[in-house]
This record gives sequence, structure tokens and C-alpha cells, in this order.
Amino acid sequence: MSSIVYSLIPLIGGISTFWLGLLVLLKNRKAKVNQTLFGAIICITVWLLATFVMFLSKEDYWAIFWDRVVYIGVIFIPVTVYHFGLSFSKRKEGNLLYLGYFLSFLFLILSRTDYFIADLYKYSWGVHTQARFFHHLFLIFFVFYISLFFLNIYQYQRKVRGIERTQANYVLLAFFILAISSFAFLPAYGIDIKFPFPYLTTILCVLILAFAILKYHLFEIRVILTEILVGAMGVVLVILPFVMPTGSLRALTLAVFLLFSVFAYYLIKATHEEAKRRDEAERIAIQERALRESAEKLVKRERKLRLETERLSGARNQFLLSAQHYFRTPLTSLIGLLELMMTGSFGKEKLSQTFQSALELRKRIEEGLDISQFQSGKAILNKEEVQLEDLLLKTIEEFRPQLEQKPNLSFKINLSKEKLAKIKVDIKRIREVFSNLIDNALKHTLKGKVELFLEKIKEKNSILFKVKDTGIGIPKEELSYIGQSPFERGKEAKKLSPMGKGIGLYLSRLIVEAHGGKLWAESEGEGKGSTFYVELPIESEDEKK
Ligand code: ADP
Repeated sequence: MSSIVYSLIPLIGGISTFWLGLLVLLKNRKAKVNQTLFGAIICITVWLLATFVMFLSKEDYWAIFWDRVVYIGVIFIPVTVYHFGLSFSKRKEGNLLYLGYFLSFLFLILSRTDYFIADLYKYSWGVHTQARFFHHLFLIFFVFYISLFFLNIYQYQRKVRGIERTQANYVLLAFFILAISSFAFLPAYGIDIKFPFPYLTTILCVLILAFAILKYHLFEIRVILTEILVGAMGVVLVILPFVMPTGSLRALTLAVFLLFSVFAYYLIKATHEEAKRRDEAERIAIQERALRESAEKLVKRERKLRLETERLSGARNQFLLSAQHYFRTPLTSLIGLLELMMTGSFGKEKLSQTFQSALELRKRIEEGLDISQFQSGKAILNKEEVQLEDLLLKTIEEFRPQLEQKPNLSFKINLSKEKLAKIKVDIKRIREVFSNLIDNALKHTLKGKVELFLEKIKEKNSILFKVKDTGIGIPKEELSYIGQSPFERGKEAKKLSPMGKGIGLYLSRLIVEAHGGKLWAESEGEGKGSTFYVELPIESEDEKK
């Protein structure tokens, strides 16, 4: 009796592995991993089912015949398992794989001869043919490819993280347990296996893989519980006819099995459709969410654009207003003075004031012209070679009288120890920039310190002019716009010097940029002083060419 029960184990193993392989394949027929696993499983199934029939065979002749069928599957197990390992660990298929298939075919031909297996060996409960010369070679081949398989999966497992690593762990475990089934080779060498554990391990392997599929979506599979339960039920039902004592009972149980198969088919189909519907609903929900998100983004962008437009139109109005004032102020005083003249009451002093106002108006118009020329890139620079230190020292001379009036202010110039390289610039314009920044620092610093620096930036082949003061400073929000367009002035600066215009800094920036340089300001905030930087390249772009 025990031999009957024992021989049923390969049957159960064969059916369950085949069932699992089929499920995996049908879930995604196009995935290489699923295909290669199915390939390996077909070989394992042939081995197990043919073994089952071999155990049932009453005559030696048939047992040997079925064992040769067994070997059709067994011979291809190493290379197909190796192949599956390659796809699972995302490796390329190489010559080793092709060699494996080639050798397998060779062994297949050899296994049809008596030089591979011959004669039956009957042990305590089962039978097996006896190994001959080529079988020994085949075993070496077997161990080699299976070891490579484990090596590949192991290396892959080291490399990946998260769920992929867990999946790899389960594949390692399942195949490790499956590898124990190679003890089924023992009887070929005359060793009795008292208990059919080599066949039991195949069932264990299927259970582990099924668990990993259920819990960790191995092979990217999601719904499979129904299939697994149906499969388990089918296995039980398919065994029944074999263990029934009478013919009619066997027929009955077989009929039950067939009925069950039909029922199982529709059950699985229904679950699949349901799962598909659920996937579709999920997909639509995801799409809808994405759409909603992008709609929200659009609304936000639209709001931002509207605010920006409002800000710009406000700025434009402000600009026009400032520009009108800018030109009107000197013109108004000019007209006032001319009126006085017309009434006849004018002296030399008034005449000189009139002249000053006219000059101021001309200067403002020139500034306006300069700005539009720089903005349109049409300004002409009269470049000459100059030693910037000299230019700076000359510029400072202008400020002597102003400095004398500010005894509370310390004024310091730091030139670099080494002489700077000569540089080609529009001397008049750059002097304007220097003068403007120094004037600003003095104007915005009532007491404390104003320091000038002139040095080379080594890593950039450029010269840096720096004006550092301890004056009113610039709050963060003002830093972003000051000097960026005409008439922009800070709140504190307006209080300190109501006559300021917000032109100098902007024009300076345009001049520096026209020289291929950069002008920017830094400040820790209100009351904390500011530093203005001018970086000028030693070799300008057009000279490089
Ligand atoms: P103005 O000095 O006529 O106002 P500028 O274009 O030279 O015009 O400067 C623009 C603004 O930049 C000033 O109104 C002031 O707010 C700010 N600013 C310039 N230099 C300094 C400085 N050294 N410290 C603080 N704020 C400064």
C-alpha cells in the first residue's frame, strides 16, 4: 500500500508544478521570465509524471521505457532552469546558454542508448534504471548548470533592494528546496531511497512559489488565490480514482473530477474578468486623479499669470509716472525762471540757475538715451587699455570735498598687493560706475565705514571691485528689484535722500553688462550695511575671438 501512496507523490508534484507554470505563463505570456519558468516547469512535469507512470508499471520493460521518458524531461532541467535564472536576474543570454542546450540535445540522443541507462534496479518501494558511463558525465553537466543558476540569482539578490530582494529570496529558497529532489538520482547508483522525499520537495517548492506570488507579487502576478485553491482541489480529486478500491468508484470519482474541471474553468474565467474590471476601474481612477491634478496646476498657473500681469501693468504705470516727473522737474524750474526773466526781474544769479536747470534737463535726457541704447544693445563703447587701480584712485579724488564733510565716516581703500592686469574698458563709463557706487555708499551711510576693494578673482580671470558700507542696508525684498529697472528705490533710501532718482544703479548695471561683466548687491538686511560688487572680465568676449 505504501508504495502506491509513495508513487502518488510524483503525480501530485507533477500536476501542481504544471498548474503553477501554466498560471504564471497565462498571466503574462509575453514576459521572458514567465516563459522561461514555464519551460523549466514543463521539463520538471515530464520528469514527475513519467516517474509516476514508471512506478505504476507492472513489467520491467515498461518501467525502463518510462524511465527513458523520465530522462527526456530530466536532461533539459539544468539548462532550462539556468535559462529561467538568466531572465529572472535580468542577465543577457550568452554562449553558455547555447552550449547548455546543445549538450542537452547530445545527452538526449545518448540517453536513448544503453550507455546512458540500462537495466532496472528495484529498491524497497520503487524502481529506477541503472546509470552508465554517459550518465556520470550528465551529472557533472547537471551540477554545473544548476550551480550557475544559483550563483546568478544570488548575485542578483545582493544587487536589488526592497520587494525585488524579497522575491529573489523566495526564488532562492524554492529552488534550493527543489534541488533536494536531485536525490532522486541515488537509485540510479544502487542506493535505496527509503522515503520519497525527493519528490515531496517539488510540492514544497510549488507551495513556496505560490506563497511568494500571493504575498510579494512574484513574476508581477496579482490575483491568483482562486487558481491556487482550484489547483489544490483538482490535485486531490485527480488522485481519488487511483486509490478507489472498485471500478465503479473509480469511474464515479473520475466523473466528479471532470465535472469539477468544467466548474473550475468558469470560476477562473469569472475571477479573471472581475480582476480585469477592477484593474480598469483603478486605471481610470488614476487617470482621473492625474487629470484633476493637472487641471489644478493650470488654474494655479493662470492665477499666477494674472497676478504677474497685474503687477507688470502697475509697474508700467509707475514707470511712466516716474519718467514724467523725472523730466518735468528741471523743465518746471526752467520755465519758472524764464517767466521771471520775461517780467524783467533777472540778475546774473537767476541766469546761472536757468543755465543749471537746462543742463540738468539735458543730462536727464542723455541718461534716458543711454539707457535705451544699452537696452537695445546699440551703445558704443570706446575701449582703451587702463590700469584699474589708477582709474579708481582718480575717481576717489572727486569725493575729497564730500568726505571732508563727513568726519564720522571712515573711508578706506584696499588695493590688491600685486599689480592688476591692464584691462580694456570704456574709461569714462567705468569711471561713472565707480563714482556711482562710491557716491551711493557715502550717501546711504551716515556714520561707520565705507571700504573699497579692488582685486583679481584668480579662478575666473576677472577683476572684482567691491564697495562695502555699514549704512542703511537693503531689505531682502528690495534686493530682488533694486537696480533691475529705472526708478526703483528703497523705502529707507527715499526718506534719507528724497531727491534720488533710481537711475544711477540701473545704468551702472547696463554699462558693466555691456563690458561682459556683472553687477550685484548683497546685504544682511535693513540697517546692516550693503556691499556692491562689480566683476569685469580681464579679457572680454570679443577680444577672445
Ligand atoms: P538713487 O541713489 O538716486 O536713489 P540709484 O540707482 O543709485 O539711485 O540707487 C537705487 C536705489 O538703490 C537707492 O534708492 C537705494 O534704495 C539703493 N541703494 C543704492 N546704493 C545703496 C547703498 N549703498 N546702501 C543702501 N541702499 C542703496
